[in-house]
Amino acid sequence: MRRTLIAGNWKMNGSLESITELMNGIKAGLEEVSNADLAVCPPAVYLMKVQGLIDGAAIALGSQNICDQASGAFTGELAPSMLKEAGCQYAIIGHSERRSLYGESDELIAGRFAMAVESSITPILCIGETLEERESGVTEDVVSRQLDAVIDTQGIDAIGHCVIAYEPVWAIGTGKTATPEQAQAVHAFIRAKLSSMSADVAEKVQILYGGSMNAGNAADLLSQPDIDGGLIGGASLKAGDFLTIGKSA
Ligand code: PEP
Repeated sequence: MRRTLIAGNWKMNGSLESITELMNGIKAGLEEVSNADLAVCPPAVYLMKVQGLIDGAAIALGSQNICDQASGAFTGELAPSMLKEAGCQYAIIGHSERRSLYGESDELIAGRFAMAVESSITPILCIGETLEERESGVTEDVVSRQLDAVIDTQGIDAIGHCVIAYEPVWAIGTGKTATPEQAQAVHAFIRAKLSSMSADVAEKVQILYGGSMNAGNAADLLSQPDIDGGLIGGASLKAGDFLTIGKSA
């Protein structure tokens, strides 16, 4: 039985004041979330502050990036060892904003993935198609290619150590959520593809949906058989909405 994971991607938002308020709000309602694990992924500069605010509560910490190298002359990057020291259990990898705005290739993302797994940090591997790709009917080809970049270099068993986040690019930050049926169809495709290589990996890997999931639509999305949680952007910045999504599981 796969656990539901609700992970908040705060992106480049927040201040010391607002993240303190947000974390206190989440902690205050945590007891009502019984069927989901929660994680928050703050901007890197706030990771240690948030770790302090978590203060032993059942909220996991994740980073929004991780370097594909262990240490050295990689200005602006985050070493896996540093993320471990900060208390990170997860690292978001391959978010569409990193792919499209900062030119991250499938190969670089596979390198980041490898370093995360080697460091016992669980990668949240984001994959998903653009609107143009969906309308051209190549959604499955795109998510396959993005998965294969990791599987071909790390092997299928490595997927057993990650969380996959299917995030249709056209749904991220746009308010246009995939319907539960649209999302379920891609999640089922991903699981079937993995199953053709390893039934065990396919059965255990958590596949999250991301793209304008909010307090109003979470229950329908999370009720789909292959949707094992959510990667939440905008709605993770409000404690009440984030908790409601957690309670919808
Ligand atoms: C995201 O950034 O991963 C995301 C899903 O954002 P939003 O929920 O705002 O669409």
